[in-house]
Parts: sequence; structure tokens; C-alpha cells
Amino acid sequence: MRPLRIGIIGFGKIAADQHVPAIAGHPRLELAATVSRQGKGVEGVPCFTSHQEMLEADLGLEAVAITTPPGVRYAIARDCIEAGLHCSLEKPPTVTLSEIEDLACLTEGRQVTLQTTWHSQHNPAVAAAAQALAGKRIASMQVTWHEDVRKWHPGQDWIFEAGGFGVFDPGINAFSILMKIFPGALFVCEAELRFPENRQAPIAAEIACTSPVADGDLRCSLNFLHSGGEAWNIDISTADGIRLSLREGGSKLEIDGAPQSAEGEGEYPSLYREFVDLIDARRSLVDVRPLSLVADAFLLGRRATVEAFDW
Ligand code: NAP
Repeated sequence: MRPLRIGIIGFGKIAADQHVPAIAGHPRLELAATVSRQGKGVEGVPCFTSHQEMLEADLGLEAVAITTPPGVRYAIARDCIEAGLHCSLEKPPTVTLSEIEDLACLTEGRQVTLQTTWHSQHNPAVAAAAQALAGKRIASMQVTWHEDVRKWHPGQDWIFEAGGFGVFDPGINAFSILMKIFPGALFVCEAELRFPENRQAPIAAEIACTSPVADGDLRCSLNFLHSGGEAWNIDISTADGIRLSLREGGSKLEIDGAPQSAEGEGEYPSLYREFVDLIDARRSLVDVRPLSLVADAFLLGRRATVEAFDW
């Protein structure tokens, strides 16, 4: 079968670390272009300094992965959809809910696939956790998503700009997992967002949730100033006494303290398998729920000003 020629737009950390190897490892995909204003890319693959320049070149491209910061994703995706390219959007898909809704409308009737990617959902342990919680009543939940921004986002000033999501950039991964495993609706009811006095996006957040299928506290703690190793954990107790813990960003599952085995191909290989399957089926997958939870935290959240942040 003819390979599907794909371009990567926005060549930074995640493009180099995950997208390039996942594309190389998929038998149907061929990396045919990169876009980077600084000229970064892969040896032997044409590199363009803007997506417009890439779209104008005669490359036989069929698809793109857009791995820029979220603020510019909508405009780039719109141009690519209008050019007839299938689009895979890194998380968060856009900065606002209206933008992603508009992209979804734009693909209708065009035979173009649009995929929102939530990489953390693709951990096999997440599917196993969803199965364990299906139909249960929830007694309590504690999400702890603490990491060192200097380690994971070195020098990425965009993350602290308005629309950069701040600590919700990793926090949205926890929300994406919750949207897979929580056995009912989940709503933000209270939030405190802590903004460094010199930045426009929160560096920490404490969030309380409610749910019609839960009786006790449902809490999320997000923090970018955590040193000494990451804590990306979700602990849930059910009303019938099960204690479920997802550790290490959703990659490890324990039930009642016992490690559960969950094997799989890895987050990004799984995302690209899904993308190719969607393209073959001429379908889109647009899931806005993790972004909705973030938007709700910003809509409801109290603002607290904290110490200035510098790299
Ligand atoms: P990054 O290292 O800053 O890379 C983003 C790249 O996009 C930059 O290197 C830049 O390359 C390009 N870019 C920046 N601003 C642009 C603009 N205005 N127009 C066009 N291109 C622009 O960021 P990243 O960590 O890879 O994150 C990118 C996205 O992936 C984010 O949405 C993030 O949430 C998501 N993600 C990141 C991780 C992670 O661990 N880092 C994990 C999963 C998902 P040029 O300057 O060369 O154009």
C-alpha cells in the first residue's frame, strides 16, 4: 500500500522526542516535511520555515501533525484543512473551545480527518483502570500532578503567556485520563489558580470537583514547582472499597496496593495507529472534554498572586 506522506508543523521537544520515532515506526507513514522557523527537522527531509510555504510546495502530502504551542494551532490547522490535509493536533488542541468547534465544522463534508490527541489516554493502564471503575460509585479522588517546569519545559516562555495554559499544560493530561476512567460526569466546582506576579498563566492550581456518581471529596492538585522527581498520580477509592492508583502519568496501575500488568505499544505509536485508522475510515475524532474542564477551572477559579517566576 502507498505510504501516507505526513508533515510535522512545529519542530520542538515533543516533535523530536515522540512524533519522529512514532512516524518512523508506523509502516504506513512517511515523514515528508517539517516546518520550523529555526530550520529544525530531520536530515534528508525537506524543512520549511512556514506552513504556508510547505502547503505551496508540491510534496504530495496527505496529512500533518501540528506540534506547535497551542496558541497558533487553530490558524495553522484551518489552512491545512482547507488544503485538504488530514490533521492531528497535539494537546491541547486549541486555546479555546470555539476554535476546536470551528475546526470540527470545517472538516465536515470535506473527507478530511481531524484528530485531537490526548497522549496520556493511550497508556494501557488507563484502559485497565477504566474497566476496573466501570459502573462503580466513587468515594474519593485525589489527582496529584506535580512536576518541575524547569526540567520539563526549559525556557518555554509561551507556557506562561496568556493562552499558554501554565500548569494546566501538563494538568490537562490528568483531565484527559479522568475523562477515560471516571465512571460518570465530572464537574469543576471550585478552583484556586496561582499566578506568579510576573506571568499570565498559573504555576499551580487546586481544584475541587463534583459528580453525580461520587459522594466524597474529588480533588486535583497541580504544581509546576515540584523538585525531586515528578508525581503524576491519580488515586481513587470506590464506595465498595476498591483503592485504585494510577502512577507515573497513567502508565502504572495498582488496585488495592497490587500492581496490575498492562502491556501496550506506547502512547505515540498508539496515537498514530489511531490516526491512520481514522484516515482509512474517513472519520474524525474530536474530544474536547479535557479542554472543557480546564476552561471551567478558569471560568470558576479564584486568582491568587504568588512570587515571581524566572527560569
Ligand atoms: P516546544 O519545545 O516549545 O516546541 C514547539 C515548537 O513550535 C518550537 O520549537 C517552535 O519551533 C514552534 N513554534 C513556536 N511558536 C510558534 C509559532 N508562533 N508559530 C509556529 N511555530 C511555532 O514545545 P513542546 O514541548 O514540543 O510542546 C508543543 C506542544 O506539544 C504543546 O502543545 C505541548 O502541550 C505538547 N506536548 C508537549 C510535551 C512535552 O513533554 N514537552 C508532551 C506532550 C505534548 P520554531 O521556533 O523552530 O518554529
